[in-house]
Amino acid sequence: MFDTAIAGSLPKPAWLAETQKLWPQWKAQGAELAQAKLDATLLWIKAQEDAGLSVIGDGEQSRQHFVHGFLEQVEGIDFEHQVEMGIRNDRYKAMVPQVVAPLKLKGRVHEAEGRFLRAHTTRKIKFTLPGPLTIVDTVADRCYGDRRKLAFAFAELLNQEALALQADGVDVIQFDEPAFNVYMADAADWGVAALERAAQGLTCTTAVHICYGYGIQANNDWKQTLGQEWRQYEQVFPALAKSSIDQVSLECIHSHVPPELMALLNGKDVMVGVIDVASEQVETPEEVADTIGRALQFVPREHLIACTNCGLAPMSRTVAEAKLAALAQGAALAEKRLAGR
Ligand code: ZN
Repeated sequence: MFDTAIAGSLPKPAWLAETQKLWPQWKAQGAELAQAKLDATLLWIKAQEDAGLSVIGDGEQSRQHFVHGFLEQVEGIDFEHQVEMGIRNDRYKAMVPQVVAPLKLKGRVHEAEGRFLRAHTTRKIKFTLPGPLTIVDTVADRCYGDRRKLAFAFAELLNQEALALQADGVDVIQFDEPAFNVYMADAADWGVAALERAAQGLTCTTAVHICYGYGIQANNDWKQTLGQEWRQYEQVFPALAKSSIDQVSLECIHSHVPPELMALLNGKDVMVGVIDVASEQVETPEEVADTIGRALQFVPREHLIACTNCGLAPMSRTVAEAKLAALAQGAALAEKRLAGR
């Protein structure tokens, strides 16, 4: 069977946080919030298992946002005085914290949810962390003065947490690098090296998720400007193919990514996006199986993992649940088609 996994995030229940927002406000505080986050994690572990996924994640229920969740445990970051900044090459504005002093981890970042995930499923578990280049693009630097230097400083901290997550029993550690599709030259030049620094010494499976972003309006508008063929991956995949990272994700369904770009990842496991996160329309198992079939022209079956294009965080819970089921059913159908040949 193909492995089936989500990219990372899932919607937060309405009792945990505001719904359908990228930076939602929490509904509780202190110990009550900590418990609510784990309750929501348990709910999504069960939902992923029920849908039939083979790799289970925490759905990022404990983080307000996939980048800022990590930064909250970093010394040298000023969260009190956030500033507005155009991120992803000014595609949209976000309130971001500032780097004001040399960076250091305050302690463990995701110990509670990593161990909780391990304790509540016997399936393979994947844990996601933001990648160095994407973090650099989501903070205002007032200290290092050099994006590459700052990225390597974050990579060291990510590496500490990744090694600890591995010790907690995590099977796959994935770094999220949506910024690789925005700063392709930097990504190929030093982004991949910073990523390898973050993954240094890991013996578990390592992965990188690169996408065209959540299904929010600013991203959908940006995609309209990218033309008929999205070739961003072409500039970064050769560097990733040569890297130590085991798995690479890409958007496939409803994207304009030429499928032959997958051939550039020769030797890697490829997480093929077969679920669209920019549309509330739930894919049919046939559509998912067709997308897997197209990918199989360029990726050997033992290297193919069926995945979502990106995180499902800003969607409705009902739609997300239906999409998880479509993902697993579509992968099973693709498997059946292969067996029937
Ligand atoms: Zn993504």
